[in-house]
Amino acid sequence: MKYVSTRGSTSEQTFEDVLLSGLARDGGLFVPTEWPHVSLAEIAALAPLSYTQIVTRIVRPFIEDTLVSDAELTRIVDQAYDEFRDPAIAPLRQLDDDTWLLELFHGPTLAFKDFALQLLGGLFDHVLGKRGEHLTIVGATSGDTGSAAIEACRDRDNLDIFMLFPEGRVSEVQRRQMTTVQAENVYNIALRGTFDDCQDLVKAMFADHALRDSLNLSAVNSINWARVMGQTAYYFAAAAKLPVPDAKLSFVVPTGNFGNVYAGYTARKMGLPIEKLVVASNRNDILYRFFDQGDMSITAVEPSLSPSMDIQVSSNFERLLFDLLDRDGAAVSAAMQTFRADGVLPDASRLSAEARDLFLAQRLDDVETLDVIKSVHDDCGILLDPHTAVAVGAARKTPRDGTQRIVLATAHPAKFPDAVEKAAGVRPDLPPHLSDLLGRDESAETLDNDFKAVRDYVCAHAASQ
Ligand SMILES: *Cc1c(COP(=O)(O)O)cnc(C)c1O
Repeated sequence: MKYVSTRGSTSEQTFEDVLLSGLARDGGLFVPTEWPHVSLAEIAALAPLSYTQIVTRIVRPFIEDTLVSDAELTRIVDQAYDEFRDPAIAPLRQLDDDTWLLELFHGPTLAFKDFALQLLGGLFDHVLGKRGEHLTIVGATSGDTGSAAIEACRDRDNLDIFMLFPEGRVSEVQRRQMTTVQAENVYNIALRGTFDDCQDLVKAMFADHALRDSLNLSAVNSINWARVMGQTAYYFAAAAKLPVPDAKLSFVVPTGNFGNVYAGYTARKMGLPIEKLVVASNRNDILYRFFDQGDMSITAVEPSLSPSMDIQVSSNFERLLFDLLDRDGAAVSAAMQTFRADGVLPDASRLSAEARDLFLAQRLDDVETLDVIKSVHDDCGILLDPHTAVAVGAARKTPRDGTQRIVLATAHPAKFPDAVEKAAGVRPDLPPHLSDLLGRDESAETLDNDFKAVRDYVCAHAASQ
């Protein structure tokens, strides 16, 4: 399998290049040159397999011709999901006649990002070990990516990890899951700014080629192709395990950076018969306005009860844009430049009309989100975290269409105890392995939203250079 940049000006790359570099040198994101095909018969044959067997099957074609043998891949995948605390790894739970929760929060940091990042950590370790290299990972997080990336990279000999998060805009549990990790290769940076500021600084570091080369920079945030790949597997697993014969399927995805829902798009491109992908947004509704109204214009980010979705510029959207623009890298590059300069995506109305074949979008504000948490708790006795609640609310706003709707439950309710308690009157408990989290010591460096300050801090602490 070969990969190209969405901006068209890099040569074809191997999986290993794409894994280790994250973002393409022309500022674009990597995508495979073709979609591996999984037939309906092959999908049906996934039903009796374990979750890890399904991952191995789905991921294999993307990493062909690399330093990873079949036996090694099996071992890496088994280790990646070893610490998940539900035997099904991604269990399905029925909510009503045609709505299901796909619980993606049984990993070490209680959010769906563990699915991709645990796998990514294992792949990095393996490939770097074989090459004898050392990397500096820098990432931006609006909450859950940070802890999941840190857990995936901690104590690995060939990596340092620097994680930027917006000071005061992540929940206490999210912050502590990052800042209480005691490992020599983990550095937390609390930035005086928004998540988009954090993300811009990371992009600026990558755009500085001298810095990028001297630090051997890499990314594990949701622009890394391997993360999309790792998430695609649970769409197949959910379809194969759903106990409704011949069901038509749609997936409802609480969306921020567009990585998770783009993994669903990838599954569909590979042959999984998905009728609709429902993009669920909070008040930061740029994607809703794109899919629903054909307008993509940037407004200020506003904090909400679902902070991992408080995003205006969803980086993975560029991968969909690449397909909407018929895989014309120059056209993507031009569109993204205009979008960045003017804050408005050109030709959005036409592009959105085309995207509506598969996508639709819904939006919930905080009051609606709290209502969903309360009503699901009252009716079913299930506590939802606010991100999952936005998606359940989005499913409810979408007219029934004869499909079974699989809602991606992206975080454990105990990651957002204040919102859950406010809505349902019940404070969710952290699972036993995290029960002493609020008493552990924290460490983080607070820095201004300033490129030089962040660059100097990273250069002073990174081992590779
Ligand atoms: C990251 C995150 C999201 C958004 O996922 P994207 O892939 O960025 O769209 C939704 N819910 C939770 C709990 C998250 O951590």
